[in-house]
Amino acid sequence: MMRIGIYPGSFDPVTYGHLDIIHRASRLVDKLYVAVSSNPNKQSFFEISERMTLLQEALKKSKNVILDHFSGLLVSYAKEKKAAVIFKGLRAFSDFEYEFRMALANRELEPEVETVFLMTSHQYAYLSSSLVKEVITLGGSLKGMVPPFVEKKLKEKISIR
Ligand code: ADP
Repeated sequence: MMRIGIYPGSFDPVTYGHLDIIHRASRLVDKLYVAVSSNPNKQSFFEISERMTLLQEALKKSKNVILDHFSGLLVSYAKEKKAAVIFKGLRAFSDFEYEFRMALANRELEPEVETVFLMTSHQYAYLSSSLVKEVITLGGSLKGMVPPFVEKKLKEKISIR
């Protein structure tokens, strides 16, 4: 039986922290859906199509990774894709409480789908999409935080604002 996993997120934009988790998760399943959440109520920096274009570029060498997007309940999406596992990345301890509650809620909604937490590499433990946006807005370098084409896109976006 094919083992299918989902790694959901807003990826606004994708960072090396996300890519580290994708790499780890993709080794644990036969097929991994990287699923960009489109939440119309959440203000995002990049449009969903832009976030997907950046992810596509970052993931072009990944063999068993499929890029997709979803809206609505994550567990419904997981069921639709016949996924057994939802992967979440953990950075600092501060991620834990929220993710713990979400995992329990999702289990209540869909007991068949398991949430698996993957620990990030220590060098990305501080990294988040919001930090990246803050640094670039203040004129800092994103070296070691995001791929160069993501930094370029961020700079373009800021200059037309
Ligand atoms: P962000 O908090 O960066 O805006 P997303 O909503 O895109 O994140 O996050 C999607 C998933 O990726 C979440 O499970 C989140 O914990 C995880 N994640 C984000 N950045 C990192 C990182 N640097 N290391 C490990 N996991 C991460």
